[in-house]
Amino acid sequence: MEVFLRQQTGKSLEEQLRQTQTLEAIGRLAGGIAHDFNHLLTVILGYGSVVASRVAPDPETSRNLEEMLQAAERAAALTRQLLCFSRKQALQPRLVDLNAVVRGVEPMLQRLLGEEVELRAELAPRLGRVLADPGQLEQMLVELAVNARDAMPGGGRLTIATADRELDAAYAAEHVEVQPGHYVELAVTDTGTGIEPGALSHLFEPFFTTKETGNGAGLGLAASYGIVRQSGGHIGVDSEPGRGASFKIYLPRAEAPVRGGVRPARRAAALSARLRCVRDA
Ligand code: ADP
Repeated sequence: MEVFLRQQTGKSLEEQLRQTQTLEAIGRLAGGIAHDFNHLLTVILGYGSVVASRVAPDPETSRNLEEMLQAAERAAALTRQLLCFSRKQALQPRLVDLNAVVRGVEPMLQRLLGEEVELRAELAPRLGRVLADPGQLEQMLVELAVNARDAMPGGGRLTIATADRELDAAYAAEHVEVQPGHYVELAVTDTGTGIEPGALSHLFEPFFTTKETGNGAGLGLAASYGIVRQSGGHIGVDSEPGRGASFKIYLPRAEAPVRGGVRPARRAAALSARLRCVRDA
């Protein structure tokens, strides 16, 4: 099992399978397009920068060129999110302590959430390690925090919790493709508006958004889905309108000891410069 769609609890296995296959198919299509777009945008940005550095000092032309380049940068950022969704990003997996990842991004998340939202970290001691790309996990946390912030315009609380979990055979039998085993759970829970039942089954599809034009491209959760899949894990959500949302990510526990570990401060510093899959927060 690679993806666990928790919102499908209660739905038939056939229905779960159909949704998983739909995401697979969209992922292949999106990945192909994003791959080509990536090349085209590299060319546009490359030549655009050369032209920008050579134009005569004409303020209007410079301004127009700047607008063009900014639009191309934005398109490149969207394309990178699509590449994340379709799992075409280059991975740098290593043994990761999720607690260290959370601690590393905490200051940045608090800034992102603003003063009205309390950020709480409930990190299990002696947490198992996972094999994943810490940069991608940080990006996913940013995606989830941005959504939580948007769902709590009047303030609230965002809790990030970690725990060791065993998903047993009975549990796996109810969730399509879930393999029983030891996992590390990362739960990101907010006290926001919650999600309408009709939206739950579309949440991880690219371009699904309920935000006004300009505020959301609908790629944050799609990118998160791809990141979790690429790490061999599962992502799901529990939510009811008016009762907040809780995103749960399960990553297979790696048994080997951590070598080198994650250096939170360094990673956090590098993160803002390198948000490969993340929208402009
Ligand atoms: P975007 O944020 O650009 O809309 P996402 O893929 O990140 O794209 O999210 C898709 C949609 O899922 C959002 O538009 C919103 O309707 C819903 N959503 C995601 N996270 C939450 C949350 N924590 N609370 C309420 N709704 C959420």
